[in-house]
Amino acid sequence: MANVYEAVIGLEVHAQLSTETKIFCSCQARVESGKTEIPANSNTCPICAGHPGILPVLNKKVVEYAIKAGLATGCEISLVNIFARKNYFYPDLPKGYQISQYENPICENGFLEIITKDGIKKKINIQRIHMEEDAGKNVHLAEFSLVNLNRAGVPLIEIVSGPDMRSAEEAGVYLRGLHAILTYLDICDGNMQEGNFRCDANISIRPRGAKEFGTRTEIKNVNSFRFVEKALDYEIKRQTDVVQSGQKVILETRTYDSGRGITLSLRTKEEAHDYRYFPEPDLIPLQISQELVEEIKNVLPELPSQKKERFAKDFGLSSYDASVLTSSKNLALFFEKAVRKLVLKGWNILDASKPMANFLTGEVARLLNDENIEINQSKLQIDHIVDVVTAVKDGLLSSTGAKQVIAMAWKNGDSVSIIIDREGLRQVSDNNILEQIVEKIIANYPVQMTQYLSCKEKILGFLVGQAMKESAGKANPVVIQDLFMKKLKGDHNASS
Ligand code: ADP
Ligand code: MG
Ligand code: ZN
Repeated sequence: MANVYEAVIGLEVHAQLSTETKIFCSCQARVESGKTEIPANSNTCPICAGHPGILPVLNKKVVEYAIKAGLATGCEISLVNIFARKNYFYPDLPKGYQISQYENPICENGFLEIITKDGIKKKINIQRIHMEEDAGKNVHLAEFSLVNLNRAGVPLIEIVSGPDMRSAEEAGVYLRGLHAILTYLDICDGNMQEGNFRCDANISIRPRGAKEFGTRTEIKNVNSFRFVEKALDYEIKRQTDVVQSGQKVILETRTYDSGRGITLSLRTKEEAHDYRYFPEPDLIPLQISQELVEEIKNVLPELPSQKKERFAKDFGLSSYDASVLTSSKNLALFFEKAVRKLVLKGWNILDASKPMANFLTGEVARLLNDENIEINQSKLQIDHIVDVVTAVKDGLLSSTGAKQVIAMAWKNGDSVSIIIDREGLRQVSDNNILEQIVEKIIANYPVQMTQYLSCKEKILGFLVGQAMKESAGKANPVVIQDLFMKKLKGDHNASS
């Protein structure tokens, strides 16, 4: 397949804006946070519950946040904004329409640059970003369903990419990049488990080199980066099988079943004009001043790409390490704070940043990925990693031991010194103890000792290995090697 067909992917992302209040009324916008969900339908008013005769009033913060998103992604900002009614019937939408934007979205024609694993840079177009309200939530029970309108009227921006991605990997990189931008801007909390950043993935295939697009399917509401990548890979394969067996892909909406790792048909797709969009008569056209746009531009925070450059320069990091560390605002902050702690203890900044970056982009990034969480949702604290790096420098912990300590701290949050003692991970660097081991090995392997002169490297490796075994892995290998070198040099000089 790989050579015959290529995938065409465009993503629509819904991001919940972290404003205090909803988009058209003064109800709270943060309806769920972690496990403390507020009682159903307690966070509603006649406006968001869609009573007849009510009038929506636009939340200014929503407009400012949408402008921020647009400026950070190189969009043009439309100074005149029209809201539109998107009409459809569904129980979680009591008004019978959603207030959205159609012909005049607030942001248009932006882009996001992605870099794939093999270092290839590519611009992904952002066609539009528009403001809209979220719907409520249907809760399906065994014999009946309930509607919870707490989420109705929560502000969203929808960010629509061009059909510019060609693989699941590119889609994953784009999504992570977009997620980073919105969380750096502090306009969306980015929590994917709660659906505050969710993605509809449009995908089609076409013969490689063809100009026209094939018929697409849309995979709805996928709420993890990895699920998006897996769903797309599955869908590429499914569509290829369909086409290769002589059938046609049909325009439809599908869902990803993460348990089975497959996509399933939900419904054949409605055409856009079925929504009967028309301008929202209850909201006057919104006029944005150029001054407001400039004001917002002037206070934009450091964005991921800028932070990446600064990290590479200030901390002497490779481009790869810098991009992993700045891929999440939380991880970047964690790194900066940890390095600062070591610097305050008198470390040179580069001596501190190098091992810190190694642990965070290695062991810690792997754990974050496995559990699909952010660093501040884990039990691992800045002090853990600071203590681990310090213990390695002091020779108390080997690099393998360090990884074990990180994994344990990750699991139970215990302090580094407690873990080292409990797990018996303290590395022995005491010269007197290690010298005894070295003497013993030298005595035990006379043949290897005589071979040392002709084939140094190999024999040295062997001897260090034996000494490590003798110490049950607790010896500091650097000190052991040093001791052997001294001994062997001494013997060599004596015999010549
Ligand atoms: P709708 O709003 O009905 O879902 P849009 O035309 O706004 O349709 O397109 C939505 C998304 O689908 C965009 O991200 C776009 O890039 C993408 N897209 C459009 N056509 C295709 C196609 N043939 N294959 C893959 N993606 C597509
Ligand atoms: Mg769509
Ligand atoms: Zn309300």
